[in-house]
Amino acid sequence: MKKSVLKKYAELIVKVGANVQKEQDVQIYANVEQEDLVNYVVQYCYKQGANYVTVNWMSDKVNNTQYKKASVKTLSTIPEWRIEKEKYINKTLPVAIFIESSSPDAMKGVNQAKLAKINKAVYPVLKPFRDERENKYQWVIVGAASKEWAKKVFPELSPKKAVEKLWEKILETARCTEDPIKVWAEHNADLEKRSSYLSSLDLDYLHYESSNGTNFKVWLMPNVQWAAGEEHTKGTHRSFNPNLPTEECFTSPWKGKAEGKVVSTKPLSYSGELIEDFEITFKNGKVIKVKAKKGQELLEHMIAQDEGASMLGEVALVPYDSPINNTGILFYNTLFDENAACHLALGHAFTHLLKDYEKYSYKELVDYGFNDSSIHVDFMIGSKDLNITGYTRDGKKVAIFRNGNWAF
Ligand code: ZN
Repeated sequence: MKKSVLKKYAELIVKVGANVQKEQDVQIYANVEQEDLVNYVVQYCYKQGANYVTVNWMSDKVNNTQYKKASVKTLSTIPEWRIEKEKYINKTLPVAIFIESSSPDAMKGVNQAKLAKINKAVYPVLKPFRDERENKYQWVIVGAASKEWAKKVFPELSPKKAVEKLWEKILETARCTEDPIKVWAEHNADLEKRSSYLSSLDLDYLHYESSNGTNFKVWLMPNVQWAAGEEHTKGTHRSFNPNLPTEECFTSPWKGKAEGKVVSTKPLSYSGELIEDFEITFKNGKVIKVKAKKGQELLEHMIAQDEGASMLGEVALVPYDSPINNTGILFYNTLFDENAACHLALGHAFTHLLKDYEKYSYKELVDYGFNDSSIHVDFMIGSKDLNITGYTRDGKKVAIFRNGNWAF
């Protein structure tokens, strides 16, 4: 990728995504392949007045070896220094920039049951630290093309061409244009208008219908907002865009209140494997049946991960005509694929969407109706003829989606 383009992307990441402020520390998490982009990002951080930028390098290859060779016991034990690092991060609240370029096959050959066991052990130890810093710091996830990832998306192209093409698509969907700062201000304003309107409706439930067999109702909690695009840190009120790209308006549904069947419209890349052509049936908010043409066992495994894994944590609306869907590409990466179509997520919910959420403990929020789980997996249900109708708490019927796109 051309230097000038990478520089522009780095500027977008630092200014719009992370919105790095004077004297702030920054932690970057990136793959070893992304040295050039990371260097530009570091430069922009300092240009914005950052105090110190730390880069946490990762390698898919080494990671894969570690998971294969080290024992479950070792990988399930979090060393003391790691706990100290979490504590230090919560004390200093550095900005976090995640540059994603892993191949969806990065964990190929690693035993799935072993992975699940390790995650189950590690998650509860790290979770309290993550909960503690949630919404207090700026963070952003962005994509960067790598050889392995590009090979997966464009297997028909030569390795060099595939990387170029993936870069092109990443920059296009992230709206990294001539003047990305201006374009993002407009895009954020549009998303904000839509999510505010959805919040103002005070919806009781949504009804989804599509000719592919989707017929599904999901209920929403009182006083829980819709969100989109830009977010703000708690207390310090710094704006940031956690996802570049982003096209969705989303909220968290009421745990235990969903009925009917949803049919997937895109393959789901989970744990390095694909689940394809599947449908999920809900009763009393819980998955009671899954049927997949490919990946049935993996899907069953996923929803059995813990109690919350069979309930919903997110409802998101994305028009069928989104720039990502229009690329016609399956990216095998949630950051991109979730912004291609309307989706639901099984697992963890977003508690900060409740008005005045900071007044409640995590347990109170879970009791209020937010789902809790170690997983959060998005799957796409948006189709060309999807209609979504909203029913408000005061009994009105409102068209939300017609023929796959916004009805307002
Ligand atoms: Zn989403």
